[in-house]
Amino acid sequence: MGHIRPLSDDLVALISAGEVIENPASIVKELIENSLDAGASLIEIEIEEGGIKSIAVSDNGTGILKEDVPVCIQRHTTSKIASHEDIHRVKTYGFRGEALASIASVAELTIKTRHVDEEIGTQLVSRPNEPPIITDISKPSGTRVEVRNLFLQVPARRKHLQEPKFEGIRIHEIILRHAIIRTDVGFRFVKDGALLIDCPPDQDARDRVLILWGMSLAKNLIPVIYKEKGLIIRGFIVKPPFSRGNRSREYFSVLKRPIEEIRLSKAVERAYSTLLMKGRFPICSLDIVLDVERVDPNVHPTKREVRIQDIDGIVQAVFRAVRKALSPKTDKYETEPIMEETSADIVVDRDRVRVSTTSEEEQTSLLEHMTLFSDSDFEISSKTVDLHDLGGEFRVIGQFQNLYLLLEFNDALVIVDQHAAHERVLYERLRALVNSGEVTIQELIEPYVIKLGPQDVERILNISGSLKALGFEITSFGGNEILVSAVPEILGRIATEQEIISFMDRVLDIGSGLAHREFMDEVIKLTACHSAIRAGQPMSNAEIADLLIDLSKAENKTACCHGRPSIIFVPRKTLDKRFGRTDPEAIARYKARHRTDPQ
Ligand code: ADP
Ligand code: MG
Repeated sequence: MGHIRPLSDDLVALISAGEVIENPASIVKELIENSLDAGASLIEIEIEEGGIKSIAVSDNGTGILKEDVPVCIQRHTTSKIASHEDIHRVKTYGFRGEALASIASVAELTIKTRHVDEEIGTQLVSRPNEPPIITDISKPSGTRVEVRNLFLQVPARRKHLQEPKFEGIRIHEIILRHAIIRTDVGFRFVKDGALLIDCPPDQDARDRVLILWGMSLAKNLIPVIYKEKGLIIRGFIVKPPFSRGNRSREYFSVLKRPIEEIRLSKAVERAYSTLLMKGRFPICSLDIVLDVERVDPNVHPTKREVRIQDIDGIVQAVFRAVRKALSPKTDKYETEPIMEETSADIVVDRDRVRVSTTSEEEQTSLLEHMTLFSDSDFEISSKTVDLHDLGGEFRVIGQFQNLYLLLEFNDALVIVDQHAAHERVLYERLRALVNSGEVTIQELIEPYVIKLGPQDVERILNISGSLKALGFEITSFGGNEILVSAVPEILGRIATEQEIISFMDRVLDIGSGLAHREFMDEVIKLTACHSAIRAGQPMSNAEIADLLIDLSKAENKTACCHGRPSIIFVPRKTLDKRFGRTDPEAIARYKARHRTDPQ
């Protein structure tokens, strides 16, 4: 007797029925899930023209029994559940028995299959509104499902499909989501003849990420294994400041079933807290393992959402899991030194003044006795001091924390944010060069091949003309890779692969709605930001002097190009007031002594 049976009418009514086929990506999703349910260890997906022309998914799973083949394309026939009780412990991806029937009603469908227990395979060819043709074939065990000419008979729905390019990207994303979690299964993805994904089965997470997301992310994974009563959260997060400009790489799954749940995203974002700049989102893939009876996948027609009992508890647990993984005490993974993305990440919190070599308690008491400056003590202005004649007039005191430059200038202590200042100088210089068409480029001796998300490749190539005016030479390298062979000279010095990836990532964040001029200005700012001296970089007094002379020539000296201040003046008066040094004679004496001081 066959395995596939029709669901009883009342069971059908129980299941949230809905149209499962929205677009080619939803077909691919259903077919991949069928292959996974069939225990496949290898799944190959081939598409043409964004899947609209054709989709083929082949697997090495159990296959379908000959007598089940005509049944499987009927509505509400499934081998996966039989009774009401089963609905509450669905361990398979599918259970509604709807996918193949829905596909058969809107496209040409061919199923080639052989069950492991049978000698002869079966082929079913079906066209909408025609009886299927079933024949014997010889075939290795497993199943291949081919879908052609989606919605050809339903012009209204075909009209709603996006361009093949975008439908193809959606399919790519669906495959990535499954492939990241199901590292036990091998995935191949061929798009219009090009092999875009080729992962062998049984990979460890890091190797899988390396293939799917590229080297830099793979090198910066933090494993997450977190257990609480009746709950395990496992997977990985990517070390900050690696991040995205949107939530597209926040992956969640329940029992390896990909889901979308904004509350989980928010929990992870809260756990990263200030580790990421505003507007940046974490990269993670977290699977929630819990008793299958606590999950109800029967909510969303395409199973994108599942209902979980005690979701609040799980959200809390995800927060704790990520917090714990991010805390340095549990730093059990090998790491590369964390790269500062920009100094804007760094918040110097005046309440966290630390006095080294003292114990925690001593510090507190010291802090209590320390008078901290209040904001009103600082003048953040350019009006009082004209930097034009800085040359020769200022004295470099040195660098504080490899972050702030300290200078004596006339009657003031000048504090300069080294990154902000350099960024301003570079921004104005590069803007002038771009305007006069004189940007100097630096050819990379070894061009970088950079793997991006499928959507991102498309977008970068679309703007590669604009980026060329800035000195970037970017071409397609096939699939989801681009080749970067030249960069603006000012970026050349630090144009590491990670730097370029992070730069491209931020270029992609720039809204696509901007006019060309505004877009160029944003990209110039980004280039300046990426090329500028980082917070944490030591500078010699000579370098500091050079930078200050350059800054004095800048049009806007007092702010970096993102609007943060670059210079703070603390007038001598302010310091005197703070130190109670208001006696004019004492000040005069102090001044005289100070002037003759050999230092
Ligand atoms: P569901 O997955 O909800 O059961 P589908 O319409 O997707 O419904 O599939 C109907 C049935 O066809 C499945 O229950 C399964 O028995 C069989 N089937 C579909 N795809 C495959 C496959 N790749 N390998 C083995 N069996 C399959
Ligand atoms: Mg299915």
